[in-house]
Amino acid sequence: MSAGAGQRVTLEACRRGLGVVLDVLEEFRMPCTFFWEARSLRVLASTGREMMERIAGNPAFEHGCHGLRHEDFSGQDTGVPIGRHLTLEMLHEASNVVESETGSEIAGFRAPYCRLTRELRSALARLGYRYDATLIRTAGETWSLQPYRLAGTEQSVWELALPRGRDGQGRAITGYLWQLFEGRRPPEDYIEFVSLAGQYPGGLFQLALHPWHLFMDENGQSLTEQRAARAAHDLRAVLAGITSLERIRFLPAGAYLKKALDRGLR
Ligand SMILES: [Zn+2]
Repeated sequence: MSAGAGQRVTLEACRRGLGVVLDVLEEFRMPCTFFWEARSLRVLASTGREMMERIAGNPAFEHGCHGLRHEDFSGQDTGVPIGRHLTLEMLHEASNVVESETGSEIAGFRAPYCRLTRELRSALARLGYRYDATLIRTAGETWSLQPYRLAGTEQSVWELALPRGRDGQGRAITGYLWQLFEGRRPPEDYIEFVSLAGQYPGGLFQLALHPWHLFMDENGQSLTEQRAARAAHDLRAVLAGITSLERIRFLPAGAYLKKALDRGLR
């Protein structure tokens, strides 16, 4: 498969996945933060006006940035780390695209591949980002799901880290739904994991996904119709389960941060 073909497949899977995610979010009246890869957002917006109106017009949604073309800023895979100047330029352009396509102020950032470089931190501070939501941390004694100031940003950017923990069998689990869509974990594992949040009053527990994952596996192969239907079913099951948990409220990440600051977070 050529790179061009792969990109079309990814975008098509992304568009279909977003359709499912939107249906589910609307069904459960659930807020959401979308971290957009700017290039894909531009294509989606130009080819799917109706979907964009559903997304941009929903007051329960906020919009953040996930790179311009899903860059490997660290150079871990490409062998070429992206330098300070280019990082700032790319992030600036990506932020502008997100703001103009969604019609809302940029809310925050999540780094592609969860690789947050020093150059990205500095660019986030320069561009006035309020938060980053890239780092994955273990919930427990040293972190109680609270926001904290991100190092390398001159104290100006908050980090809303993603939780990592252990399931009932002691296996590592995160709030990313990869294993759910790959059929390697049942919805119950995530419902149980989210219920942990009850131990940390005022903390933020993030569940995250890539929409394309509902139609494509991590190797770029399309899922069978049966597996895609299963993935959508399991996503519904997770959301149905967590909405029935006590002491948990649903907010987009930026709205949560604003509340935490209003409550006196320093
Ligand atoms: Zn990504």
